Amino acid sequence: MAKIDILVVEDEVALRDMLQLVLEQAGFEVRAVGHVQAALEALKHHLPDLILLDWMLPGISGIDWAKKLRRDAAYSDIPILLLTARSEEEDKVLGLDSGADDYITKPFSPRELIARINAVLRRFGKGETPALIQVGGIVLNPEERKVEIDRKPVNLSPTEYRLLEFFLTHPDKVYSREQLLDRVWGRDVYIEERTVDVHIRRLRKILAEHGRDTMIETVRGFGYRLTASPQT
Ligand code: CA
Repeated sequence: MAKIDILVVEDEVALRDMLQLVLEQAGFEVRAVGHVQAALEALKHHLPDLILLDWMLPGISGIDWAKKLRRDAAYSDIPILLLTARSEEEDKVLGLDSGADDYITKPFSPRELIARINAVLRRFGKGETPALIQVGGIVLNPEERKVEIDRKPVNLSPTEYRLLEFFLTHPDKVYSREQLLDRVWGRDVYIEERTVDVHIRRLRKILAEHGRDTMIETVRGFGYRLTASPQT
């Protein structure tokens, strides 16, 4: 399984280095930056599995940024764990109101930090052996990267697999080509939006062999959606 990827945003150099070391030792992939502007740049290239975000940052505070992320469809489902030196109860509430998924108060032990991160990841269905994903007779096994439809094996290229996995885990929501590029191909890759159409066509062709091609709907002017019960 790919490593869990954590973006650390902390302005205190000593603490940032410590966090990076502790997280890497725990087996996470880590990128660490000192302010929100650098974090935004990092997000443009790659979406992390979790953001460890310091409250008090120069410029835009961690809280204000968390609020912004929650309102942005491209980033709204990245879990955020807030780091804070404040411990007053009202501050904790304010922190969670901001859209952070949990908080941890400085000072904390490495063990406490890792436990808190794992708890948030579990809540988001990350970091554990994933369960089978089943939608409309399609069964996807994320661990073995295998797909079956009506118990018959389905052969997919890596891209078609990731595309189908994304749709199956985000059913009934419409995604634009740009969003699909970000979420399925990743932001490191510079390809044209029509590439999405090409792969959708291929995926539909494969699904058609199993009578499931209508599950992927074109929503004119918006993009694509997977629906478990297509209107045909
Ligand atoms: Ca700080």
